[in-house]
Amino acid sequence: MTTQVARQVPFGACDITPEARSAALAVLESGWVTTGPLTREFERDFAEWVGARHAVAVSSCTAAIELSLRALQLPPGSAVLTPTLTFCGAVQAIVHAGLRPVLVDVDDLTLTLNEHDVAAAAARHDARAMVLQHMAGYPVAVAELTAAADLTQDDVVEDAAHGLGAVIGDIPVGTASTSTCFSFYATKNLPIGEGGAITTADPELADRLRASSLHGMSRDAWRRYRPGGGWRYSVELDGMKANFTDVQAAIATAQLAHLGRWQVRRAELAARYDAALCEVSGLRLPPRPVTGRHAWHLYVLRVGKGFPLDRDGLAAALAERGIGTSVHFIPVHHFPYFRSLLGPQDLPVADRVFEELLSLPLHPGLTDDDVDQVCEHIVDLSRGGMQ
Ligand SMILES: *Cc1c(COP(=O)(O)O)cnc(C)c1O
Repeated sequence: MTTQVARQVPFGACDITPEARSAALAVLESGWVTTGPLTREFERDFAEWVGARHAVAVSSCTAAIELSLRALQLPPGSAVLTPTLTFCGAVQAIVHAGLRPVLVDVDDLTLTLNEHDVAAAAARHDARAMVLQHMAGYPVAVAELTAAADLTQDDVVEDAAHGLGAVIGDIPVGTASTSTCFSFYATKNLPIGEGGAITTADPELADRLRASSLHGMSRDAWRRYRPGGGWRYSVELDGMKANFTDVQAAIATAQLAHLGRWQVRRAELAARYDAALCEVSGLRLPPRPVTGRHAWHLYVLRVGKGFPLDRDGLAAALAERGIGTSVHFIPVHHFPYFRSLLGPQDLPVADRVFEELLSLPLHPGLTDDDVDQVCEHIVDLSRGGMQ
């Protein structure tokens, strides 16, 4: 019997390109390491990539969501709809903005909100805003859900932490509502390490968000330490400490040059998984939008009753064979903090679907052989896994 050394396929990897590393070093040597001209340059490049008018770079997507919600200036405690199947930080942001999260169940097919549930929750709770999430990179129907909630696009904040590069019909994510929030966290489609951005078509909102991300200090207050910069500034808005730095911007601009290629690779890898797994009984493949474009941040499999192992069993068996997986997400209402904040919640679809979710490795550094290896193990395990 020949024993082959199994290839390890980690769940995630973060590729900081050589250009990004040397660009970061150049900033560190320049003597100007916080918010500055490179941040503004990245904002222009990022807005152009997305197709948006303006981009405001901030410290994280979580901060981006909080800033966007604060800019709505809603009465404290106003209800904000959001899916329960999302990242906990996105819901913390609603709480930090002084608003009340209303968790909505998810659609069994798309794992995002549907119009029926949104309309019911909006009416029951008198919703004043909504945070939509492009789960896994699936482009959410922003306009339809906004109408279902009886809101306008000004009341909608998109959490596009997964949605960079997605297209809704023919509308790029980042242009469909008044503010769209992106993440540059280490595992996201444009990895920097930490960072985020808000895109908007509204120049006044962009200025406001920029000031609010730096204590509400008046425009270009960051210039005050530069030669010729005056020391005076004003504070006209509430603010957070959530600015982006030129070190991040240098990495970001260099990484952005690769994003188009990385997106194409993600889509190829997703198609390769689909082809290899579509006939395995008991598995459901990720939904694909009828129109538009998926951003393929995650490849989320559903492990159903027809598979010989349950989700946890499959994850454990794959881990034994050197394949990393993850689960997106633990529904927010399962966490003790949110339970004590919001009380018990009746969200049956999320409860049921959660037990089936398994995210497979998906990042542009994977080879075709890596994906084939993952799929061979899954197919083998579907037949009893005696390999
Ligand atoms: C990663 C993530 C966030 C948070 O992004 P940060 O940049 O780490 O704050 C928010 N929402 C979703 C859906 C995410 O996956």
